[in-house]
Parts: sequence; structure tokens; C-alpha cells
Amino acid sequence: MRRGEHERFVPTLIANAPRFIISTTGRDLRVVLTGPQNNFLRVLVIDAHVHLYPPELNRDPAGWAATQREPHWGMLCTRLRKNGRPVQAFPSVDELLRTMDAAGVDHAVLLGWYWENHETCIRQNRFYADCTRTHPDRLSAFATVHPSAGVAALDEVRRAHGEGLIGLGELSTHSQHLEPDDANWHAVLDLAGKLSLPVNLHVTDPGGGNYPGRVETPLVDFVSLARAFPTVNFILAHWGGRLWREASPLPPNVFLDTAASPLLYDQAIFAEGVQACGADRVLWGTDYPLDLYPHDGGVGTMGGFLSDARAALPVAATQNILGGNAARLLGLALRA
Ligand SMILES: [Zn+2]
Repeated sequence: MRRGEHERFVPTLIANAPRFIISTTGRDLRVVLTGPQNNFLRVLVIDAHVHLYPPELNRDPAGWAATQREPHWGMLCTRLRKNGRPVQAFPSVDELLRTMDAAGVDHAVLLGWYWENHETCIRQNRFYADCTRTHPDRLSAFATVHPSAGVAALDEVRRAHGEGLIGLGELSTHSQHLEPDDANWHAVLDLAGKLSLPVNLHVTDPGGGNYPGRVETPLVDFVSLARAFPTVNFILAHWGGRLWREASPLPPNVFLDTAASPLLYDQAIFAEGVQACGADRVLWGTDYPLDLYPHDGGVGTMGGFLSDARAALPVAATQNILGGNAARLLGLALRA
């Protein structure tokens, strides 16, 4: 089966995490669900870290950030690089789907943002619920929340879960001005555990470069959180800031994604990360629509980084990292 000829798949939320046997044919990933019916499932490439915004934001991102009182997002996402290029574009849902088609990406996980206002979280979640209702075969989404909204934040998590959103994130309590032991934040994590929602957190590498809007996120905070909430699966973005240098082995409920990798690390990070953490702990994700190749005009974020990953990953790890791990962790499956 050549890329592009695969059947469209319908992600299904599988209660009671199934056991998978993964076998391979050529470059395609085949996942067999072991169960009474021995259903044959196939999972291809999943981008586990994508951001998308509602049309009213896309029309005027900087103006929208000012009106909505979201200055931190505005600084990170609407700025120009030194070479004059915008750090990212603001694609529509249809543009995202066309990009996925061109890159050979079957499914994308839409992540929210660590907004500074509860109302912005609500708007993002409703927009994502619409996206996944319209394109359930191509898109899943995580909800976002501002823990300081207290009971309203918990209600919002329940509502988003009821609408089919399958995780929380990308969150950053460090950027949302919360202490790591904030009681409201812990209540959100308690609820995430009860609802089996994985939580994606933004992490900056303490040894990484500076950029406008960078917020320090001490690695030890993530290790403590993972140990305090053992029933919550955490996906730490951007290789978890190379968390393995702080905690090895990783706590069993910690996974890492590869978002924005070309802007942060060279290709050797793939071998280092996989060797240190194991091939079952890393999820391939891009951070689309962030421009990951600002000095290499024309190289698209999704297709370019998929090629980079294929070239850099140890062969035995490729299919887990490009889709298998996300499918298992998020309960996404392909019904043949
Ligand atoms: Zn991030």
C-alpha cells in the first residue's frame, strides 16, 4: 500500500485501553487490536501537536490579541523574526487539511493555548469542538483551561470532554502566573485523572536559547507533578526540555513530544531522546503552523519535519513515534 492509498480512518475512543500488537509492512504502520473480535486496525502518521485558531483571530491576530487581553500569546505568535518573516501563519481548517494531505499526515491533534483569560479558553474549546465534529476522521482536539477560573474551569473541562475533546493542553501554568502547587491547578489535574484526559504541558529547556516571550519552566516542577498525579498521563512538549537530563528514567506517566524541534535542536536530538527515554515515550508533533524552517524558504513545517524525523529516527522507533504512541495514548484507532 502506497502513501495516500490508505483508507480514511475513523478515530474511536476505546474504553479500557486496548493492547496492541504492532507489525509493519513497508513504511506503513499496522496495529492489531487484540480483543474478542481481533479487529484489524491501522494507524499511520499522527501529528500530535498542532495549533489552530478561529476565523476572527486569523483575520487580525495582533488586533485580536490586544482586544482579548492576550499579550503573551501576541508576543509569541504575531512577532516577526530578525529576518523579517512572521514566526507563523494563521491557516484555516481547510488549509490545515490540505497541508496534512500534502505532507502525508493522516491525523492531527489540535492543542489549545495557555490563554490568560477564561473566556478565551471557552472560545478555543468551542471552535475545536466544531472542527472535530466536522472532520472526525482527520482531527482530534485537546481542551484548554485557565485553572484560576476555579469551578468555572472545572465545568469547562467537563463540557469540553462531553463534546468529544480528548485531553487538556497545551497548558503552561508558568505562563498563566500560577505556582506549581496552586490548588485550582491541582483540582484541574484531579479531574483530568478522573476523566482519563492526558495533559500536554509546554516546557522550555533550561539550556535552550532565549526568544521574546520565553518563560522559564524548571524541569523539577514537571517531575514533581508527574509523581503527585500518577493517574494522569503527561505529554511534555518540545522534548520536555530534555527532561531525561533531570530525571532518568522518566516517571512512568510521562511522555514527550517533538514540537518545534528544528528551531530548538539539531537532528541528534532524535537519537539522544529515544535512547534516553525509549521509543514508546516520544510522540511526533510539529507545532504547526509555527514556521520551523525560517532560514530555509519553502520548506513546509509539516512535510519538512516529517522528512527530518524519518531520516533521523532509529528505524525500529519510527512507527511508534510517528503514530503508534499517540494512537495508544489517546485511544485513537483506525477501523479497517
Ligand atoms: Zn509549546
